[in-house]
Amino acid sequence: MSAPGSPAGPAREPAPLHPTALLAPYAMHSRDSVGRRYPEAPDPLRSPYEVDRARIIHSAAFRRLSHKTQVFTGERSDYHRTRLTHTLEVAVVARTLGRALRLNDDLIETLALAHDLGHPPFGHAGEDILDCCLADCGGFNHNRQGLRIVEELERVDRRFPGLNLSGEVLEGQAERTPSRTGNLRPLLEVQAVEAADSITYDTHDADDALYLGLLELGELLEIPLWQAAARRVRRQHTDLTADELRWAVLQELLNWQLTDVIDTTRRGIEAAGIASVAAARQAAPLVIATPELAEQKRELEAFLFERVYKHPQVLEFRAAAQQALAELFAHLVAHPRLLPSRFAVRVDQDGLPRTVGDYVAGMTDRYALAQHRDLVRAGAK
Ligand code: MG
Repeated sequence: MSAPGSPAGPAREPAPLHPTALLAPYAMHSRDSVGRRYPEAPDPLRSPYEVDRARIIHSAAFRRLSHKTQVFTGERSDYHRTRLTHTLEVAVVARTLGRALRLNDDLIETLALAHDLGHPPFGHAGEDILDCCLADCGGFNHNRQGLRIVEELERVDRRFPGLNLSGEVLEGQAERTPSRTGNLRPLLEVQAVEAADSITYDTHDADDALYLGLLELGELLEIPLWQAAARRVRRQHTDLTADELRWAVLQELLNWQLTDVIDTTRRGIEAAGIASVAAARQAAPLVIATPELAEQKRELEAFLFERVYKHPQVLEFRAAAQQALAELFAHLVAHPRLLPSRFAVRVDQDGLPRTVGDYVAGMTDRYALAQHRDLVRAGAK
C-alpha cells in the first residue's frame, strides 16, 4: 500500500471541521444559549446540547418509551414501532434535515429524543382518558407532560428538580404545548423536528398497518402520495415483488419528503434573505414541504385516520386500555397509600389527582396492565 499522500496513494480525506464551523448564520449556536435555570459549570468535553441529550437518554422516562404504544400495541407483533423506535426514527430523519440545512444537529437530536417523552401508556388512547380523569385540575396533554417530566419529575442532581436542560430545549418542547404564547416562530431546529416527526409517522404508520394486516397494499396504492412514490420506484425497477415494492415505496417516501422539505426550506431562506436566528424567528414557517406534497400528506393522513386509527381492532383495544387506565386512576385516588414513596411525597405540593396522573402517565403499557391486575382486580388497599 502506498504511503499516505504519495502520488500513487488514495486521495486524502480533508480533516473534519468542528461542527460549529459548519453551522449556518440562522442556526442556533450553543455559545448563544440562554443557559440553564440552575447555573452549572460548562462541561469540559461536550456542548450544552450534548449534555442535554445524555440526560434525556439516561432518564427513566426515555427508557420506558420502549414499552409504550406508538399506534399499535405491543401484543400484536414485534415488527411495528414503539414510542422509542419512533423517537429514534424522528431523531435520525431530523438530523439529516439539520445537516442538510446546516442547523445545529446536536440541538435537533436532543429535541427529537425529548419530543414524545410525555406520552402515557397506550398513546393517544391513554392521553384522552387521562385528560378526562384530570379534567378538574387542568387536564392532561402529552406535550405538557413532556415538559413536566424534564422540569419536575426526573432527577439528575439533588440541587434541583428535573434535568435542568438548556433554555432552547425547554422552549422547543413548550412550543409543542397547547398553551404556547408569543409571536416568534420556533427556532429552525424545532421546526426541523416537527417536519421530521410528520415525515416519519406518515411513512411508518402505513408500513405498520400493512404489516399487521389492517390495510392492503392495493388500498394504499390508490392514495395519491403512494401512487406518485410507486411511479417513481417503477421508473427504476420494473420487476419488483409486492414486498419489494412496499419496501422501495417506503424508502422513496422518506427520501422524497426529506428532499422536498430541504429544497423548499433552502428556497424559503434564500427568498426571505434569512441571515440570523432572529430573522428566522420573525419569518413565516420555513422548514416546510411544498404545497403539493403537503396536500398529498393531508390526504394520506385522512385515509389513515379513517382506515387505521379507527379500525375496529384498534378501537377495541383502545376501549379496553382506556377502561383499565380509568379504573387504575380511580383506584389509586381512592387508595393513595398504594402510591410509591417517590410519588406520595409529591401529593402535598401537586394534589392527589395530579400525582396519580403523573404516576400512571409514567407507566409502560405492560406495567399499567400489571398494576390494573394486581391493584384493581385484586382489590388492593
Ligand atoms: Mg412523535
